[in-house]
Amino acid sequence: MAGAFWSLVEDDRQGNPKKVMAEVLGEAARLAGQTGAQAEAVWLTDKATEAGIKQLGEWGARRVLLLENGALAPYRGEVWVPVLAELCQKESPQAVFGPVTTRQRELMARLAARLGAGLAADATALALEGGTLVATRPVYAGKLLSKMTWAKTPWLATLRPNVFKPADAQAGPAPAVDRPAVAPAPAAMTLVERREDSATGLPELAEAEIVVSGGRGLKGPENFVILESLAKVVGAAVGASRAAVDAGWRPHRFQIGQTGRTISPKLYLGFGISGAIQHLAGMRTSKVICAINKDPEAPIFKIADYGIVGDLFEVAPLLEQEFKKLLEK
Ligand SMILES: Cc1cc2nc3c(=O)[nH]c(=O)nc-3n(C[C@H](O)[C@H](O)[C@H](O)COP(=O)(O)OP(=O)(O)OC[C@H]3O[C@@H](n4cnc5c(N)ncnc54)[C@H](O)[C@@H]3O)c2cc1C
Repeated sequence: MAGAFWSLVEDDRQGNPKKVMAEVLGEAARLAGQTGAQAEAVWLTDKATEAGIKQLGEWGARRVLLLENGALAPYRGEVWVPVLAELCQKESPQAVFGPVTTRQRELMARLAARLGAGLAADATALALEGGTLVATRPVYAGKLLSKMTWAKTPWLATLRPNVFKPADAQAGPAPAVDRPAVAPAPAAMTLVERREDSATGLPELAEAEIVVSGGRGLKGPENFVILESLAKVVGAAVGASRAAVDAGWRPHRFQIGQTGRTISPKLYLGFGISGAIQHLAGMRTSKVICAINKDPEAPIFKIADYGIVGDLFEVAPLLEQEFKKLLEK
């Protein structure tokens, strides 16, 4: 059988794979099916759960390679990469995929370097052409799409969230579970203290289907409550432009753009954001873009599907009311 298509599991640190894995595994299973190979999940964790393993199977993993070891937590690239590289050398997967997350961006780049393999970072489409994988990925801040392929296997790629079709969860046979022996090398870095950010009660930015985003037009940090209130009604995450982040109004993890997070929600609502190229780099693949700006010449209107020229302080509460009415029906 051809080498398997691997998906590196991103989990919630409580033993459950994140929802984005449905997209990664769905794509791995789709491509594996075309080559007579199978999709497999590779899970490095200090804490797996039976429910998590079952979930991976339902999303298409025929086998779970479970590397469960206390020394793998917290994530440190220098511990994970040698373990994964050794596993790749033993098992010769044809492809290794992961979601675009802060952790996997780093992990996959380091793994590619260790294996001397190619990496398609932030892929937005994957297709087999003549037996070889071809990836599409945005370049030049999303102005162009480039196609790339690999000189050799394994084909490494990180997949942009909300772009690939998620697997339909199918109750089937439970996946085979293999537990390769792991002997993680001692870490160069020691965890001194871990502080959890206070939970916002809103979805995670990169995974959210709707994102409400605010820029300098918000005028101050206190006004983000307007967007949070709207976000709660529609079940959205709240993001920000760099201007808002640089001003200290939002933590950096909420920044959307070239030097922040890349998002691809079904609906992006931008309030008081001008639409600088570096911001567009992080959100232009959103399915529907709606911009609210008082300046009719704001560049964001050039890429918006819907535009509202108006004062966000008036428009946001009105939108919230209308969404409430619609959703209550
Ligand atoms: C190397 C580099 C990397 C960068 N990376 C990023 C990045 O990752 N993400 C990012 O966002 N930026 C990034 N930037 C910065 C980027 O160039 C812009 O400066 C930034 O995106 C502007 O943020 P903004 O749209 O919030 O602010 P502004 O450009 O100041 O726009 C504010 C908008 O709000 C509107 N407005 C004001 N008041 C109201 C109101 N009451 N109602 C409605 N509209 C109103 C204005 O008309 C204006 O269009 C980067 C820049 C560089 C050089």
